[in-house]
Amino acid sequence: MEYRHLGRAGIRVSELSFGSWVTFHNQAGIKLAVDMMAAAYDAGVNFFDNAEVYANGKSEEVMGAALKKLKWRRGSYLVSTKFYWGLNKGINERNTLNRKRLIEGINGSLQRLQLEYVDLIFCHRADKTTPIEETVWAMHNIIEHGKAFYWGTSEWEAAEIVEAIHIAEKHHLHKPVMEQPVYNLFERKRFSGEYERFYKDYGYGSTTWSPLASGLLSGKYNKGIPKDSRAGMKQNSWLVETVTDKDKLAKVQALEIIARDLNCTLSQLSLAWCLKNPYVSTVITGASRVEQVKENMKAIEVAPRITPDILEQIDTIFKVRKEEDED
Ligand code: NDP
Repeated sequence: MEYRHLGRAGIRVSELSFGSWVTFHNQAGIKLAVDMMAAAYDAGVNFFDNAEVYANGKSEEVMGAALKKLKWRRGSYLVSTKFYWGLNKGINERNTLNRKRLIEGINGSLQRLQLEYVDLIFCHRADKTTPIEETVWAMHNIIEHGKAFYWGTSEWEAAEIVEAIHIAEKHHLHKPVMEQPVYNLFERKRFSGEYERFYKDYGYGSTTWSPLASGLLSGKYNKGIPKDSRAGMKQNSWLVETVTDKDKLAKVQALEIIARDLNCTLSQLSLAWCLKNPYVSTVITGASRVEQVKENMKAIEVAPRITPDILEQIDTIFKVRKEEDED
């Protein structure tokens, strides 16, 4: 496993990491969480991603209980959480990055995770109604109180991130150092477009999400929706349209030929493709089974075998997307 700096920050993250989004609590209880996290950690993963909103706080509870059982040395791993949507419907408690909510948010997360501090905290989305200055100060204060070490953004516009950086620089506050954007073979427009220059100029790190487009890029939806898959679950019916999209499925099938030539699985190829981007600090993987974790971790062996020629072949398959990128 390679460990990449989170942009210009001193901390290093494993190139593949592990997240708990719709899986922990919904698909994985404590026992399975322990087994999957152990498989990832044994493969060299040092970063585990979470958010207060995942399973309405229960995902943090499951990860906290798992970490307690795993008894790893605290210095050997990083945990993150994120704030924005909140857990309650109060006017100051949802869709916000106001100071009160952020401070209450971190305190709640630490309790659920049973940790004294988390390592990374993210503003899960931008809040168009709270001044960015207030949010920057609140994130700075959380870090100053030792409750987190680094902070970042998720799906913010480049201009908003630049504003946050400038505010932090002006007041000598802790700056945001990483973004958490979607990045996979189907959704690369923002990461390879708006953000790319920005990563170069500001040395921002990135922890990218949904590398398999929720499993679509594993090829599991090529013959319909398996009952025991993410899209097969009632609460994820929003995914059905995407995983049955004929154009997308044709691309996945075409990709299969390249995977076969490389002697790897579609999941490994799709993850390895993400790893090839030098602006990716870590690719956050997701899984509902230990076998998937083990399979996915082997993507690190596939990445060095992806030549510029293969990258071009992949781009040809995803041509429509590429043309959009160039708009
Ligand atoms: P993926 O796109 O990789 O999807 C993971 C899912 O795909 C698994 O849960 C599993 O679903 C299926 N899968 C994974 N590996 C395999 C395999 N080898 N073979 C077959 N199926 C496989 O990642 P996620 O969408 O889970 O995102 C990863 C992480 O990113 C999240 O956990 C979260 O931490 C973060 N994230 C952040 C967001 C943000 O807004 N900041 C938004 C979304 C995610 P199943 O078996 O159930 O079909």
